[in-house]
Amino acid sequence: MLRRTLLASALAIPALSACVSAGGAADPMAPLPLDTSSHARPDEARVRHVSLDLTADFDRKVFHGKATLDISARPDAREIVLDSDGLVIRAVRAGGREAQYELGSRDEKLGSALVIQLNGARQIEIEYESAPNASALQWLEPAQTASNKRFLFSQGQAIHNRTWIPTQDSPGIRQTYDARIVVPADLKAVMSAEMLTRDGEPAGEGQRAFRFRMPQPIPPYLIAIGIGDLVHRDVGPRTGVYAEPSVVERGAYECADMERMMDVAEALYGPYRWGRYDVLILPPSFPYGGMENPRLTFLTPTFLAGDRSLVSLVAHELAHSWSGNLVTNAVWADGWLNEGFTSYIEGRIGEALFGAEHARMAEALSWSDIQTALGSVPADGQRLHWVGEVDANENSSAITYDKGALFLRTVEGIVSRQRLDTYLRSYFDRYAFQPMTTQGFLVDFRAHVVLGDAALEARLMLDQWAYEPGIPSNAVQPQASGFVAVEQAVAAFNAGGAPTEAWANWNTMQRQRFLQTLPRQLPAARLEALERAYGLNAIGNMEVRFDWFALAIPNGYEPAGSAVQRFLSEQGRGKFVRPIYRALMDQGAWGQALARRTHEATRGAYHPIVQTAVDRIVTG
Ligand SMILES: [Zn+2]
Repeated sequence: MLRRTLLASALAIPALSACVSAGGAADPMAPLPLDTSSHARPDEARVRHVSLDLTADFDRKVFHGKATLDISARPDAREIVLDSDGLVIRAVRAGGREAQYELGSRDEKLGSALVIQLNGARQIEIEYESAPNASALQWLEPAQTASNKRFLFSQGQAIHNRTWIPTQDSPGIRQTYDARIVVPADLKAVMSAEMLTRDGEPAGEGQRAFRFRMPQPIPPYLIAIGIGDLVHRDVGPRTGVYAEPSVVERGAYECADMERMMDVAEALYGPYRWGRYDVLILPPSFPYGGMENPRLTFLTPTFLAGDRSLVSLVAHELAHSWSGNLVTNAVWADGWLNEGFTSYIEGRIGEALFGAEHARMAEALSWSDIQTALGSVPADGQRLHWVGEVDANENSSAITYDKGALFLRTVEGIVSRQRLDTYLRSYFDRYAFQPMTTQGFLVDFRAHVVLGDAALEARLMLDQWAYEPGIPSNAVQPQASGFVAVEQAVAAFNAGGAPTEAWANWNTMQRQRFLQTLPRQLPAARLEALERAYGLNAIGNMEVRFDWFALAIPNGYEPAGSAVQRFLSEQGRGKFVRPIYRALMDQGAWGQALARRTHEATRGAYHPIVQTAVDRIVTG
């Protein structure tokens, strides 16, 4: 049975499939669902192309220059509404003439609406500069980088790009872009676009300019820039690594499988449509594991384990070249269309490269993450399609990623892998470079796969998956035989035995599973035995070290203290930093003292996004 009430509320969103013309090209003014994370009114006027001419001023920590926007508008449109946050607007022109504009009052989450009178023009120019505390940008001092030179990187997702680009910052409003970026002559600029000037060109005293072009329309959160002492190494014919000189060889080694990953993804989901695929390895303060900026994935250096054991991160970001970058959630409430699909595809790439058992272990870990989330996330937050108040920047939980992937694996188990693969291939073809909603996806899936088969419809439970909390009853818990030995080792340890010697031959997932399934309460002597056996305080694999701290801290295991402090100082990845600070603050006097001491010393090095989150945890 379908849940009528939920379906009815979802139908308030226009079905995007109806907006596509017969030739497959999107109507430039096709209706879009209301995006509560943007001030834009795209049904009146919308940005089609962004042209940036900016100078990176490292001394003042600002970009200054000009953005020229090409727009489409209804014939009677009088104004266009852009998103901006903290931008200082110097001048605005419409059609070459001075234009009236108004910068609205600042909303804490959304920033300010920038309303510009069009006077019939379809091109506007904005002279402006960003604020030194722009949340999309982190200006690093030489001491924070491997090469001891200055570095800048941007992070647009979800709604941060409005702090350095005045445009309509809504994922449904796709925009092409080009850019000319002036940087200090000893640094190199890279962007999520085709690079037109590999080594830059002269641009005045002590400066170089780099030019870029992104001809495919992208959601504006994918406009991204990195500036630093960067060199490039090829990994394959279409793939390569940008990094600081002392990091690039390690990066190229870790990413050796990238070209094979692309071949696998293309065989499943159709051609890679973005030209080259490079990754940029960032300094340790990068707040995320990876960011799927088109043509140029941004990666945390914490994936450099030295043994390619954390390369699934690259598979994930590459998979976004289809789910997310090619077909994009129209609003952040449908973030699972980006992340759930991508987590599913990441698993398929991993299975093709490393085998079925590898994939089952990843699925079993993901299942555990969902169970943990169901125990802590309120029911409202357990739906794939979010309802109610949505904070676009809080779009990262085991629900969006893992429940989304579990949904697709459940569908695969019911309709068959071949049928789902055929469907997804056509889905990416038919909706390439277009936004998508949960409701639009379900309409399309029913039209192409369910085909009115009532028995199949009942088995799939599509609406329960999309619109209800929890996990529907048709989900199948994954079984990984590689975890049987782990369970036995946990049982033996719990019976008082020594830590298993099998650890030496285990892969990362088995080691994580072992640490995650040990009892949460252990006496110091047992923790001591684990640390002595495996050297956990200093283990190179950051995921494993994190799982160790997640066990050691709640037990008040003080010999881990200085290692925890080092961990929080040497990288600023939110996925690691936030839960560690939370565990320390929950632990008691020892943990809280350690958290406050470390926070005091390291908060300045974190990215603004992580800094804000950690401030909230530590100072309440
Ligand atoms: Zn992702």
